Amino acid sequence: MLNTSYDIDKTLLWNLTILYVEDEKLITQEVEFFLSKYIKNIHIAHDGEEGERLYHKIKPDIIITDIQMPKQNGLEMIKKINDNNIPVIVTTAFSDVEYFVEALELNINKYIIKPIDLKKLLEDIQECATINNIKNELFKHDNLMNIINTNILLSITNTKGIIIEVSDAFCKFVGYSKEEIINSSHVLFKHKDTPSSFYKHLWSSIKSGKIFVGEVKNIKKNGEEYFLKIRITPIFKDNIIINYIAIGENITDKKKLELLVIEDDLTKLYNRRHFNEILNKETRRIKRHKGTLHMLILDIDYFKKYNDTYGHPQGDEALRIIANIFKSSMTRVSDYAFRLGGEEFCLIYTDMSKEESINLSKRIVKNVENLKIKHRASIISQYLTISAGLIIEDGSNIDEKLLYKNADEALYIAKMNGRNQVVISKHCVK
Ligand code: GH3
Ligand code: MG
Ligand code: MG
Repeated sequence: MLNTSYDIDKTLLWNLTILYVEDEKLITQEVEFFLSKYIKNIHIAHDGEEGERLYHKIKPDIIITDIQMPKQNGLEMIKKINDNNIPVIVTTAFSDVEYFVEALELNINKYIIKPIDLKKLLEDIQECATINNIKNELFKHDNLMNIINTNILLSITNTKGIIIEVSDAFCKFVGYSKEEIINSSHVLFKHKDTPSSFYKHLWSSIKSGKIFVGEVKNIKKNGEEYFLKIRITPIFKDNIIINYIAIGENITDKKKLELLVIEDDLTKLYNRRHFNEILNKETRRIKRHKGTLHMLILDIDYFKKYNDTYGHPQGDEALRIIANIFKSSMTRVSDYAFRLGGEEFCLIYTDMSKEESINLSKRIVKNVENLKIKHRASIISQYLTISAGLIIEDGSNIDEKLLYKNADEALYIAKMNGRNQVVISKHCVK
């Protein structure tokens, strides 16, 4: 075993590729014999030209070269190779002194005075390789930061929700300058459709140290809306959260396509297709967990007469305005408003007391009348009104079809009882 004043890094050395350029056969043999015990790939060239050719062929990690050689000397060779990233070890004799000035201008890492001290040579090789490894890592690190800055939608927020850093990519994407974003909060990007419950849930997750993943609808400086899939990671120092890193993925196009499939064109509420999906999903959820599922079916009163009186386009406008009342009543993440077809709508929501639910449904019916949309052909009011049927079930014997049937039956009774009211199904949970 070689006795050195430093630790030999066997793996680092073994995996190196070395180009050794030396015209004196005896020296190359001796050096190669010694180094080959530690280094797998040693390539020998016998003059500067051969060295240059070999360099391009094998792309070595380190070059070791003599100075005085036939055809092209070592320094000319290094100059020609012109690679500032490759470590160069030059072996020189004292007689080479005339070359030293020239050598100093080149980027040469080490000089070894002949006769070569083999241990010293190995030590120098290891040092060059280590430095180069670190340089590569730094390069990778710098490069990585650059890639993140220009490509990743990244923001860093302090524990109070104030943005303290953003990537250039993020600024470009939302259309604000860095100065406009830093020191403000994410409220800057909030879209009115994103319920505050979304942010409440987000904050309670990350404050407890958990990673939050979710999809959010936001708004750019120019008013354009966008969707991000965000992943927020709390950053700890000494077990205390110091800030949060959010990384966003722009999923706007995907979301818009998704919405086309599940949204009703006229009212922008969810459509019948999505109703079937959500009803199925929510009933299964209620079966697994405790809680209640609420279904409210709503139908406009004397809407045929409205169309006949005011025309179909105005009927469409009324549908849109009334749909907005439904949408704005459904503010929590698991609240849904659907247009089932024509002038029939449905709201599905969970986890509310029976009393709250009844109050909510009454309020919605009232709010529609309060819109004061004139309807002179209506028999029961001077304004457009709606009737509604409410059913509430828990997970014990919930059934999708029965749920709808019971709500529809309650709606029918509301119509029979004189319209502009909500009827609570007699099949509701107690
Ligand atoms: P009721 O109080 O019993 O509900 O009476 P109604 O006239 O509202 O009910 P009916 O089901 O007889 O008529 C519904 C009308 O809704 C018929 C149709 O003209 C109208 N309607 C359905 N879809 C649309 C739509 O997309 N736009 C407009 N403007 N009207 C529609
Ligand atoms: Mg109808
Ligand atoms: Mg109707």
